[in-house]
Amino acid sequence: MSKHIGIVGCSSEGAALCYRTICLEAESLMGKHAHPEITMHTISLAEYMKPTQEGSWQGVAELMLRSAQALKRAGADFLICPDNTIHQAMPWVVPNSPLPWLHIAEEVAREAGARSNAFGVAAARRGSSLMLRLPKFEIARPRQLSEAVALLAECGPSSIVIAGGTDLVPNMKHELFTPDLVVSLAEIPELRGIRRETDGTLVIGAMSSLEQVAANELVLEQAPVLAQAASLIAGPQLRSMGTLGGNVMLDTRCQWYNQTYFWRQALGFCMKKDGSLCHVVEGGGKCVAAASNDSAPALMTLGATLEIEGPNGRRSVAIDDFWLADGIFNKRIDHGEILAEIHIPPTPRGHRGAYGKLRDRGSIDFPLLGVAARLDVDASGAIEHADLVLTALAAQPRRVKRVIETLRGVRIDTDDFTRAVDEVATSAHKQCHPLPNIPGDHDYRREMVPVYVRRTLIAAANGTGPVHHI
Ligand SMILES: Cc1cc2nc3c(=O)[nH]c(=O)nc-3n(C[C@H](O)[C@H](O)[C@H](O)COP(=O)(O)OP(=O)(O)OC[C@H]3O[C@@H](n4cnc5c(N)ncnc54)[C@H](O)[C@@H]3O)c2cc1C
Ligand code: SF4
Repeated sequence: MSKHIGIVGCSSEGAALCYRTICLEAESLMGKHAHPEITMHTISLAEYMKPTQEGSWQGVAELMLRSAQALKRAGADFLICPDNTIHQAMPWVVPNSPLPWLHIAEEVAREAGARSNAFGVAAARRGSSLMLRLPKFEIARPRQLSEAVALLAECGPSSIVIAGGTDLVPNMKHELFTPDLVVSLAEIPELRGIRRETDGTLVIGAMSSLEQVAANELVLEQAPVLAQAASLIAGPQLRSMGTLGGNVMLDTRCQWYNQTYFWRQALGFCMKKDGSLCHVVEGGGKCVAAASNDSAPALMTLGATLEIEGPNGRRSVAIDDFWLADGIFNKRIDHGEILAEIHIPPTPRGHRGAYGKLRDRGSIDFPLLGVAARLDVDASGAIEHADLVLTALAAQPRRVKRVIETLRGVRIDTDDFTRAVDEVATSAHKQCHPLPNIPGDHDYRREMVPVYVRRTLIAAANGTGPVHHI
């Protein structure tokens, strides 16, 4: 007898995707138009945002239990929750739930444990729960930047900085980082705030949330490409926790690296962590894990500068000089240094920008391709300055060459603009070669380069960005 599945939805996109995936998977197993009985219950995402922003997982649990009760009344046998973030409320949900929950990650782990004694990963060793657990660590919550810098210097390489934790925490669960001391920047007021200096420089504190950056009037006016890129990072809950500083500092990503310890061990690890091989470039001597931070190409088109605080004081680095072509660590910043502020120089009156992003699920995923476009236009509509930077190709973002040579002087309201944009798109296709480092067929990602370049430049000209398929 087939079971009646209850889906507890938080974001409408996640719930819809879960429903669709179950139906399609069931059809492939049971035949056309055959799928189990499914009832879905959603509560407005706005209601979830309040306790999430307050860090009240009990508050989130109350909303999830409201859905659980509704689904029990509808006759569901068990419940699924497709949203990652609200899973953190599970310790409060499970003991009070009227129905059992299926946590897909736990089912996979249980199956792996049953099949192999090699499931000796830290997650299993640490207790009976098969959920991925954080390794043990100390946390420090300094109130001043100088105190944070001193703590990192004192503890040395076994310490790490945490901002919103939206990338570091999953990475620690995967044992990609196992620090003894985690230094939180959350309580340092001097890292917060967005302001404009008298010379027109836009100053964004590293701890400004992505949500704040996306909605801030000054950013929207002076750096629209950055506001658009921030608005497309991850999903709403992650944007309210995740920071711009954390995004600039995001670790590179690879489908062979962003996995559990168990998964990586089964494959013999790789050069970026615990091993000596690269699974992307056979025999390759260099890691090519992908720069996947959406803010990076946007900040490059804006000519941003990074203000970095360290044991020897403060230094400024032009963002173009910040990246290294090494996927193991692709940034010119030393351990113990903290990104404090991002400075964006004034943009001219005719400045326009747009961000284009290709990803699997429009609600949450990392980029399969990111395109940041800049056009500065004079009073007659002719292009004075243009720039185009792509990301999610290799270890560092890539500036497309000869863009300004093609676009300078072209009026954006003419057919010449369409022709010039086509020329730039063809040239970008020749210059950009996505690697099989992140999920998604790399040939497909390459074919999408001219498509997204064309759409993003046109959106910049028309002020209609961001470019996003969902
Ligand atoms: C499901 C999911 C989807 C995601 N999708 C996207 C996406 O589409 N695009 C994208 O770009 N990112 C994505 N992310 C990653 C992440 O949410 C964002 O990049 C976010 O901006 C990271 O910021 P944070 O404050 O949470 O950083 P944290 O996780 O706290 O830190 C990230 C890294 O930066 C370092 N760090 C943080 N702040 C500083 C600082 N001020 N100085 C020095 N080092 C610092 C930390 O030590 C750590 O190594 C996703 C994450 C998840 C879980
Ligand atoms: S590219 Fe991927 S597989 Fe190769 S070393 Fe880097 S993280 Fe590992």
